[in-house]
Amino acid sequence: CGSTPTVVETGRTLIVGSTGFIGRFIAEACLDSGRPTYILIRSSQTSPSKMSTLKFLQDKGAIVLHGSIDNRELMERILKEHKIEIVISAVGGERVSDQHVLVEAIKAVGTVKRFLPSEFGHDIDRADPVPPGQIMYNEKRKVRRSIKAAGIPYTYICCNSIAAWPYHDNTHPADVLPPLDHFKIYGDGSVKAYFVAGSDIGKFTLKAIDDVRTLNKTVHFQPSSNLLSMNELASLWEDKIGRKLPRLTITEDDLLAAANEMRIPESIVAALTHDIFIRGCQINYTLNSSKDVEICSLYPETPFRPVDECFQDFVTKALGVANVVENKPKGKDGILATNSKPAEALVITAQCA
Ligand code: NDP
Repeated sequence: CGSTPTVVETGRTLIVGSTGFIGRFIAEACLDSGRPTYILIRSSQTSPSKMSTLKFLQDKGAIVLHGSIDNRELMERILKEHKIEIVISAVGGERVSDQHVLVEAIKAVGTVKRFLPSEFGHDIDRADPVPPGQIMYNEKRKVRRSIKAAGIPYTYICCNSIAAWPYHDNTHPADVLPPLDHFKIYGDGSVKAYFVAGSDIGKFTLKAIDDVRTLNKTVHFQPSSNLLSMNELASLWEDKIGRKLPRLTITEDDLLAAANEMRIPESIVAALTHDIFIRGCQINYTLNSSKDVEICSLYPETPFRPVDECFQDFVTKALGVANVVENKPKGKDGILATNSKPAEALVITAQCA
């Protein structure tokens, strides 16, 4: 483990996966909340962008511990030594089953007041995507079952979609710009979904972690102001960039074919995209008060960041990309009229998404 500064405050929180797409937002919100924030880092896995996220979090006060959650002895030691009260896991889809060992460690130590496993999407006991999305959901379902069997206090965060263009082949759509050449619209584009800013995923997750009303509950992020169809999302982006883009239809069969290719992770995203925008998995159920809570009803005074604002951030990034990539003036009929290329992956900032 890393160095152990003296930390006397309560609310010690361990975050697993803080260098990942969702975990970064959670870790940042945790640090902003003033909690003693421990982040578990797998020393073997480093890349320049992860190193820069790590430095950013350390500079904000994160206490770095090294190791992997599939090492039970280590996890028990970390939980005990640092008196961890809350554990939040945001491991990626392919490592979901590593959490079984973490669950065993949490059970053995017996002092963790709340565990949030890696969910951060749909309610996996309600949504039922086609394979390979279903295969990943089955792994997440098994983790839920082992948490229940171990009697560990839990909260499941179902934050729905990230506020970005929902590319059907990209696990981290908020890291790239919405289209600049044409839209691919799933089905007739009328099915709605909840688009939540990444910073809000972090902020509201942190509000929920020690709220008695979320104990052993599934927390659904359903801000009505962020409920949009693809057609509405496309119009919003067109307003932002000041020009119309052609719309291509991606049919249900196209999405099923992409899922059926079993390319991981792209086919998982295609399966989930099918579930969201064809079947309406985010909007086709009602909440059950014995096991569900809706986040806006818990914190009505705290607004969600509007999708309009998030897309404005993309415009700012797009201007940067257009200037850097093209290094020439923008057309008078739209801010990005000279750049018809879809944007490449951008440097990640936590401004939006
Ligand atoms: P990423 O792959 O981006 O990041 C995963 C993180 O977990 C990395 O920091 C990785 O560390 C760490 N990790 C993986 N295995 C271990 C381990 N055994 N021990 C310690 N750390 C580990 O994940 P995502 O952010 O894409 O996914 C997180 C969750 O969010 C998933 O449940 C996913 O389904 C969901 N999600 C939801 C989205 C939405 O729009 N609602 C979008 C994307 C994901 P390392 O650097 O060492 O690899």
